[in-house]
Amino acid sequence: PARATPVQYATPAEALHTVFGYDAFRGDQATIIDHVVAGGDALVLMPTGGGKSLCYQIPALVREGTGVVISPLIALMQDQVDALSAVGVRASFLNSTQDASQRAAVENAFIAGELDLLYLAPERLKVPATADLLDRGVISLFAIDEAHCVSQWGHDFRPDYLQLSVLHERWPTVPRIALTATATEQTHLEIQKRLQLSDSRHFVASFDRPNIQYRIAGKNAPQQQLLELLRSEHPGDAGIVYCLSRASVEKTAEFLVQNGIPALPYHAGLDTRVRAANQSRFLREDGIVMVATIAFGMGIDKPDVRFVAHLDLPKSVEGYYQETGRAGRDGLPSTAWLAYGLQDVVQQRRMIDSSEGDAEHRRRLSAHLDAMLALCETIECRRVQLLAYFGETSTPCGNCDTCLSPPEAWDGTVPAQKLLSTVVRLKRERNQRFGAGAIIDILIGKSTPRVSQHDHASLSTFGIGADLSEPEWRGVVRQLLAQGLLAVNSDGYGTLLVTEASADVLGGRRPVMLRRELERPTRAARARRT
Ligand code: ADP
Ligand code: ZN
Repeated sequence: PARATPVQYATPAEALHTVFGYDAFRGDQATIIDHVVAGGDALVLMPTGGGKSLCYQIPALVREGTGVVISPLIALMQDQVDALSAVGVRASFLNSTQDASQRAAVENAFIAGELDLLYLAPERLKVPATADLLDRGVISLFAIDEAHCVSQWGHDFRPDYLQLSVLHERWPTVPRIALTATATEQTHLEIQKRLQLSDSRHFVASFDRPNIQYRIAGKNAPQQQLLELLRSEHPGDAGIVYCLSRASVEKTAEFLVQNGIPALPYHAGLDTRVRAANQSRFLREDGIVMVATIAFGMGIDKPDVRFVAHLDLPKSVEGYYQETGRAGRDGLPSTAWLAYGLQDVVQQRRMIDSSEGDAEHRRRLSAHLDAMLALCETIECRRVQLLAYFGETSTPCGNCDTCLSPPEAWDGTVPAQKLLSTVVRLKRERNQRFGAGAIIDILIGKSTPRVSQHDHASLSTFGIGADLSEPEWRGVVRQLLAQGLLAVNSDGYGTLLVTEASADVLGGRRPVMLRRELERPTRAARARRT
């Protein structure tokens, strides 16, 4: 027969002081905790670093029984449990990394009522024995961490999360609290629907992270740009550098190490032990730079990450915001820096075209990319645009690159027409398609082997764009791609095509406003640091 845990703390405030050693609750914490302690369901949307963990840990300490926490972060469970044990909370976990005897010990402790918190990997719930086990103990609450994993629209879908609706069906009287740091309206609604949380109270915190300075730079020599950023603004600081591919993770980490920066690689292709060792060095040592794919970071609680740099364009604003949100959890000034170039757009469009899944899936990926591109190309405050994406209205922040040195907009209608008509003529007159490099050569009238091979010098548009430089033209191509006025063929060569919307530009019915390219990082941003 199950024996209940003795109630250890009379009030949430007592648990906060005695166990965690904090003076006061932050933001909505107190209200959320009172609501769950009283047995209510809750859906909590709070940015990374907002303090979500206490929202279920404290009710689990105050209510009778064990708080069962569903979390996809298997690699972090040991760390989380260690941290709780260190402050005297009786916590344990069940996941696939344990052998039968380790599992049996945890199960017995749970049944005996000796656990305040039990972390459970979602795939455990598929095993019928898990539900039987849960029936044999006393459950104080269910916490569903990283709840956005239930959303197919989101960027981090985990099929095992779909079955979490069984929690409510099988244990209808146990309160549930779902938590996430990802909060577009769409994801929010999907979580509510799939987890059957329509009767729950929703707590939506502001997603603003005022201490993070958002900057998006043109990508020319990304590794060199990164090195300059680290040397001039973040010497000796801990940070995360995100790259798209495993190969570029390896190369970038090596490059940094060669330049005297303590960098470590992290991606899914590395041996599990190497990954765990690198993660633990990043967490425990000072000033380590983790170069990683997006496989790294969820649930990483390191307060003094001073910068998050992206060397490749993230696939969605949600992903970008979550990744950059890992900077500055301690509230001190931090940098989110992204290098973005023409090749990123070409590559991502190509990946979407060749991705598996139906047309609807591709449309979804495309919509995600478009929102990310709009953020990159905006001439308005980055933060205003980011928060607007999450449904929040705000005013210019004064702490992002566009606020610190406002980019100029210029009328790019004529250059756009020159470029588009070159693409059209090549197709119509020669039945040829080329990528950005060849088109730009034609526009500036450059003599190259390719130009003579294809006799491009005889085209009427040859040399008509000599008034702009090659980097300026690359900026025009990139922005036209971002605005959907130009497309990349899915032939794998990055050849350019006109779109339906291009016709309006060519016909003079639609003006094209472009963002003036800034060659160097903003001077204001540098001055702020020195
Ligand atoms: P999240 O899960 O929302 O990203 P955490 O729960 O990891 O955030 O909390 C972020 C940091 O803030 C942690 O170091 C945590 O200990 C600290 N923290 C949370 N709540 C409080 C509080 N009320 N007072 C002081 N520190 C807090
Ligand atoms: Zn701003």
